[in-house]
Amino acid sequence: MDIRIRFLGAAGTVTGSKYLLEIDDHKIMVDCGLFQGLKELRLKNREDFPVNPKEIEAIVLTHAHLDHSGYLPKLCKEGFNGPIYCTEATADLVKLLLLDSAKLMEEEADYAKKKGYSKHENPEPLYRTEDVERVLPLLRKFPFRKQVSVIDRVQATFYNAGHILGASSVELEVTGIEQKKKLVFSGDIGRYEEPILYEPDVIKDADILLIESTYGNRKNPQGNPVEKLADVINKTFDRGGCVLIPAFAVGRTQNLLYYLKAALDQKLIPEVPVFMDSPMAIAATELYVNHADYHKLSTNEINEDDSFLSFRRNLQLVRSHDASMAINYVQKDAIIVSASGMMTGGRILHHLYNRLPRKNDSLLLVGYQAEGTRGRKIVDGDETIKIFGQMVPVNCEVVVVDGLSAHADQDELLRWTSSIERHPKRTFIVHGEKESATVFSELLNEIYGWNTEVPAYLDSYELFKGI
Ligand SMILES: [Zn+2]
Repeated sequence: MDIRIRFLGAAGTVTGSKYLLEIDDHKIMVDCGLFQGLKELRLKNREDFPVNPKEIEAIVLTHAHLDHSGYLPKLCKEGFNGPIYCTEATADLVKLLLLDSAKLMEEEADYAKKKGYSKHENPEPLYRTEDVERVLPLLRKFPFRKQVSVIDRVQATFYNAGHILGASSVELEVTGIEQKKKLVFSGDIGRYEEPILYEPDVIKDADILLIESTYGNRKNPQGNPVEKLADVINKTFDRGGCVLIPAFAVGRTQNLLYYLKAALDQKLIPEVPVFMDSPMAIAATELYVNHADYHKLSTNEINEDDSFLSFRRNLQLVRSHDASMAINYVQKDAIIVSASGMMTGGRILHHLYNRLPRKNDSLLLVGYQAEGTRGRKIVDGDETIKIFGQMVPVNCEVVVVDGLSAHADQDELLRWTSSIERHPKRTFIVHGEKESATVFSELLNEIYGWNTEVPAYLDSYELFKGI
């Protein structure tokens, strides 16, 4: 038996995770993510797929974030029709995220058409809701740590990765004619000091390892996130402004609510309204109730009136579009949490449009901002940002708190790899921008003597021959 791998995304960049495995003449894929951020990357979403989607027999998903699942509707539209294996919580989140993604794409195409700012006369969304409807019946759900058969001779096991609800590292066990081989895909690895999710599972053995490297070159000590948040919030209120926090609707928003409630409980911040302005985040938060096995909160912690999912006096769930627009009239003493986290679309855009020019307001960035996104441009200090086809000045205070990200930092990535007892034959460093991936590659080589490589887009490697 021969095994090859081809990198169809997240190679030298953090988005578009897609790995094609060719096992003799069978093709399966791990992750099926959208490219986001830089235009040259986003354009890849529209290019012809490098393999005929009809030839792919099955897909295994590490987690629900769109940069790992958001290309599924496009692939199904083009003929993929096999099973999609993932954890139970991932399946529910994928449904939410893909439906929302299609809706945003449809709205954006309509808007661009109306305003005439697209170069195309008839801008078409990458996919539509009907394409998402093709994906949903293909999802097959499994719990953590249960071996499942993907195709003949290939078994998958999902291990907790601690990144978002249901997020996993995937181990594929391939049974050759004479030997078994383990291929481990780390997925996105979370943080170890996490209030809601369990810490990442220990994985001891890998013949081939693909490991993410989002923060492969950075240390982000967590410190006390509640105090850090309170500090930014209080300074903003002192000058009579509001705090705007863009956050991934799935994962970051729930952690933020947890910390904001803690800040209120400890009386570190005044009793002010917290607007959760993302219908998807509201729906995602409700899934914590249905998937109790996937987090460490007790039933009481999530069901009480005063839980972080619905804290009494302060938390206002904003569902309608009109209610979202009405927040623009709030001048001071409020916290607004909205999506998307990298400010690439969604309701956060109208908040930014209104608040970036306001000197008294603060924009608090808590997640990773990929190259080419509005978020990255703001972190890099751009003075104006394009929103709805207009240049908007950035006058508000911008504060970045890296310790609140859902990604392991360099030390935590090393903690994760330290449990692997036997040298993998090959280790591929993926899901990181070039510098970060290169630094981490060199580090693994230096510390463990591992044979590491940073693959490029469309690179193909023969992993095993005649096993
Ligand atoms: Zn992720």
